[in-house]
Amino acid sequence: MKVYIDGAFHEQADAKISVFDHGVLYGDGIFEGLRAYGGRIFRLEEHLRRLQQSAEAIFLKLPMPPREIGEAVIETVRVNALKDAYIRLVVTRGVGDLGLDMRKCRTGAGLFIIADHIELYPEGAAEKGLTVITSSIRQRSPDQLSPAIKSLNYLANVLARAEAARAGAQEAILLNREGFVSECTGDNIFFVYDGAVYTPPLRAGILEGVTRGTVLELCRDELNNPVVERLFSPAELTRAQEVFLTGTGAEIVAATAIDGHKIGSGSPGPVTRKIIELFRRLAASTGTPVY
Ligand code: PMP
Repeated sequence: MKVYIDGAFHEQADAKISVFDHGVLYGDGIFEGLRAYGGRIFRLEEHLRRLQQSAEAIFLKLPMPPREIGEAVIETVRVNALKDAYIRLVVTRGVGDLGLDMRKCRTGAGLFIIADHIELYPEGAAEKGLTVITSSIRQRSPDQLSPAIKSLNYLANVLARAEAARAGAQEAILLNREGFVSECTGDNIFFVYDGAVYTPPLRAGILEGVTRGTVLELCRDELNNPVVERLFSPAELTRAQEVFLTGTGAEIVAATAIDGHKIGSGSPGPVTRKIIELFRRLAASTGTPVY
């Protein structure tokens, strides 16, 4: 595997960055997770736009224009001869001293890109659905670090995910400060009730997922199911007929049990299965070509 770091490719064993990079010392940086399907990068522009928005939000100057970062993403998939891939793009604050001051990171932002495969959930999850818990860890409020920024501070998500694993579940829901459902540790969340599709709005405290956006588009353009972005409680979620999660890594996967409540029939429902089918078709037929 060849990893892109600051303009050059390195073998996996040599793919290293400085211990003085503030990305390592303080989680001071941002990232994106993308996917390639059949040799095409899915929604590259959207990911680059979000990267730029995350960068601006933390006063981080990208090491090169988004278009060139996109070219580096394509090149990384190409040099690894991949058709289907999960791509991790990370921009760090750069090398500084041991203090917090970002102005001392004089190297400027660091950029690395890994193209590999990812398996978030055990085999069979796509067919069977996931068991999910509600985490005891709350989503950050927007007056802390905004959940809309895809920063390198993922420890709350990591711990919520570990909480799920301890409970024998595969994913965890984060409630926001007011007790409304926000999102999961690496995915957005949707439910289906009497044909309508519901998902939390941005003000619930979520990352504006690229997959979420795609699903909203599919519901509006291809399905006759109305979509509603509104706040909802965990109780409303557990009496839904279907629940599904969306993310670049997760793709679209049903949640078939939440906190011991069976959702619908206990297997992925018809709306979820239809959306998965439409999503797969879209992913296979669109995207920025690598080759
Ligand atoms: N929420 C969080 C916290 C995430 O980490 C992710 C994955 N990037 C998502 C939602 C889904 O976003 P996307 O569909 O853009 O991958």
